[in-house]
Amino acid sequence: MATIGFIGLGNMGAPMAANLVKAGHKVVAFDLVEALRDQVSGEGSEVAESAVAAADGADVVITMLPAGKHVRAVWADILPVMSTQALVIDCSTIDVESAKAVHALAAKHGLASVDAPVSGGTGGAKAATLTFMCGGEERAFADAKPFLAAMGKKVVLCGGAGAGQAAKICNNMIVGISMIAVSEAFALGEKLGLSHQALFDVASTSSGQCWSITSYCPVPGPVPTSPANNAYKPGFASSLMLKDLALAQEAADAAVVKAPLGKHAEEIYRAFEEAGHGQTDFSGIINFIRRLST
Ligand code: NAD
Repeated sequence: MATIGFIGLGNMGAPMAANLVKAGHKVVAFDLVEALRDQVSGEGSEVAESAVAAADGADVVITMLPAGKHVRAVWADILPVMSTQALVIDCSTIDVESAKAVHALAAKHGLASVDAPVSGGTGGAKAATLTFMCGGEERAFADAKPFLAAMGKKVVLCGGAGAGQAAKICNNMIVGISMIAVSEAFALGEKLGLSHQALFDVASTSSGQCWSITSYCPVPGPVPTSPANNAYKPGFASSLMLKDLALAQEAADAAVVKAPLGKHAEEIYRAFEEAGHGQTDFSGIINFIRRLST
């Protein structure tokens, strides 16, 4: 069993660290917030006094932090104290440029690294059913896979450095756009006298079929497990969808690619957040779409 340094014990990181403990690993955990350190201590992790202390002597270090600037800062601190035999994995969702930069920094210190952002949300983090989208060298990926498998049900290598982040933001750009499209269709259907169930029955088995209808339908009823049946409690908060759509636009700008629907989806989710709905599930955008007509 390995010694794992785990840095970032928020909504996702704390349950992920707990699953590594359940898999029999020694986890040495750190977060800036004392209450979160206390919480994971009660779940079987050892608590470190700093990120550097969590990384010192670890076989593997995993970071689960808010954004690229946090990952850059933490990796710059911890890499100098890590053994060159160790592996460093970032599971945060961050911009592709930062992901590539921290891979390069790890290589400079002689360390193997993997970017491994996740999908599956806090429910998947607790149940160890996350999907990991990975970028990095094949050998680093092979070394990382058993640790990621202890926290998820699917671990996919998408390509070289930064490819995991690229896959994550491309996927989420599709979902952000498609959720708006599905919401517009249901809002229009309501005005045209269609029942939610009738539109669902047709669109979920016709050419309009997509995950935003079949698994996450934004109206209550047709898909009983969707957040629409639970007052649009996340699920996946709109603020996180906005973050991912903004990362997609940042990557598109850097790659000189136009993604006009992705850009429009970002603007719509930004307006939704500015109206005070950042903590509403992103499928709650249907209520915002309906209000546009009034
Ligand atoms: P969170 O804000 O709950 O947790 C982040 C933690 O990082 C916080 O506890 C914060 O104190 C800690 N932190 C910040 N800087 C630090 C530092 N220098 N050293 C140590 N700790 C530090 O966020 P979360 O919901 O756990 O998400 C983490 C990442 O996973 C984000 O990149 C997010 O986009 C991504 N993600 C989240 C979800 C979700 O449903 N919450 C789903 C998929 C991906």
